[in-house]
Amino acid sequence: SPEEQRAIAITADGKHHSYGQLLQSAFKLSSSLLQSAQPTRDATSADDGQLAASRVGIMAKPCAEFVAGIWATWLNGAVAVPLALSYPEAELMHVFVDSDISLVISTEEHRDLLQGVAQKCSVRYYPLPSVPSLSNSSEGEAVKDSVSFGNIVAEVKRISSAVEGENPALILYTSGTTGKPKGVVHTHASIGAQVRMLAESWEYTASDRFLHCLPLHHILNHLKFQFYFCSSDINIEVDFMPKFSTRGVWQRWRESYASEGKKVDPNITVFSGVPTMYVRLLQGYDTMDAKLQKISCNAARQLRLMMCGSSALPEPVMEKWEQVTGLRLLERYGMTEFVMALSNPLHGERRAGFVGKPLPGVQVLIAEEAEAEAGVGELCISSPAMFKEYWRKPEVTKESFRDDGFFKTGDTVTIVDGYVKILGRTSVDIVKSGGYKLSALEIEAVLLEHPAIAECAVMGLPDKDYGEIISAVVVAHEELMANAAAKSQAILTLQELQKWAQDRMAPYKIPHQLQVWESLPRNAMGKVNKKELKAILLNTTI
Ligand code: ATP
Ligand code: MG
Repeated sequence: SPEEQRAIAITADGKHHSYGQLLQSAFKLSSSLLQSAQPTRDATSADDGQLAASRVGIMAKPCAEFVAGIWATWLNGAVAVPLALSYPEAELMHVFVDSDISLVISTEEHRDLLQGVAQKCSVRYYPLPSVPSLSNSSEGEAVKDSVSFGNIVAEVKRISSAVEGENPALILYTSGTTGKPKGVVHTHASIGAQVRMLAESWEYTASDRFLHCLPLHHILNHLKFQFYFCSSDINIEVDFMPKFSTRGVWQRWRESYASEGKKVDPNITVFSGVPTMYVRLLQGYDTMDAKLQKISCNAARQLRLMMCGSSALPEPVMEKWEQVTGLRLLERYGMTEFVMALSNPLHGERRAGFVGKPLPGVQVLIAEEAEAEAGVGELCISSPAMFKEYWRKPEVTKESFRDDGFFKTGDTVTIVDGYVKILGRTSVDIVKSGGYKLSALEIEAVLLEHPAIAECAVMGLPDKDYGEIISAVVVAHEELMANAAAKSQAILTLQELQKWAQDRMAPYKIPHQLQVWESLPRNAMGKVNKKELKAILLNTTI
């Protein structure tokens, strides 16, 4: 039966782990954790056990151990706090103290770092044991071990009634694009709601196999992964690629295409990435010889769905992707606070430059500012997948909701034919210049059409005449950089750019300042931190 063939839950580092192996590991680990835990201040009754309602930090690259660790935490009625692999020690300390964790678990490679931080914060450390894997030769073993995902959920719920309803399940820290990362509390109910929403919209089935290469501390990925492992009717399989590489991804697609039809190693059917990944994948494609290009795009074409989100997908990237692979990327919009809320349709028009329409159960409204253009304003959202609260920040939580219960996203948008267009973050992407309110994202989209520009960030800098002027930091295409360096020429001057821009945008949108950099500072999700960039520019320009 298809169920039996789907006994593999996770593939990572070439090893296959079955649902049964994951389940057993989670149970075993949950009792070890309980034994190792010190009493916590929050434990209200002795019957709850020492870990109930306390926070458990977890650090691992995407792997089976991560999944077993989360389940083990939940089996104890505790709240999981996934830690970003990219956090430097100071940031980790912030999260340890802010989330008030009592125990931290990790795979061996992060042990030294975490043990050090744990000691400073008086937190107990416990190493994550390896989850056994099926030996590669034993195809039969995978089929026999057919504990399905439904069994796992039922079993976990039977043992721990905490894994339900309004009980907190996760505290996820925001990307920190606009300030210090905030702890966002999600409940088992909000996770469940998201799972159902995505399953319905993107039509996941047991024959899907997801290639995953984004960090798991991040909500969108975390929830995607919960989706695979919490859904009782869909035994989706996930293939973890712990560190994204263009070569690795193209190769995985090619392998999966070549092994089409084999039971143990079926095709990858779904892929999801952030815009910079697609940019890099296209660059990688350009360096292949014609034969490899052909095999690669044939392989990519086998996937049924490729998605993009987290930051704006530049239209030229979407177009080139379609030319190369024949697949039209599906762009969607989400946030740590409500996970995924808007999406272009699986069937129907995927509109470039738009993030789509509300997912099932989601409602949106635009809060217009008094002096703003009609139909433009802050996106507000109501969703069954809405977070419960900002961890220990009741005031901030209260301020982020309207009286009617809608959450204020901080993103400025407009809606055309029911499709939402993100104009940018109200705080950093909306440039107020000479009486106009301009969308930095729109200007960036135009600049990316310039043949020399590979990446760019546009922002407003204070100016005494205009209020703000438009400043652009760009990264040139690699070959151009090398060429220009060889001839010691400027790659692109402000005058050249302004001349080029004249036919393409209104005069008040044309940048007043230009800097050409080798790269843009980005966080783990590939997002440019504009606040930081602004600070750098204000010290270096003028
Ligand atoms: P912080 O809240 O700490 O400043 P963050 O907002 O970047 O960090 P996330 O929750 O990871 O943390 O990101 C949500 C934001 O990402 C949204 O508010 C929106 O600005 C942006 N975003 C997500 N998807 C898209 C998209 N498809 N296009 C444009 N922007 C997007
Ligand atoms: Mg945010």
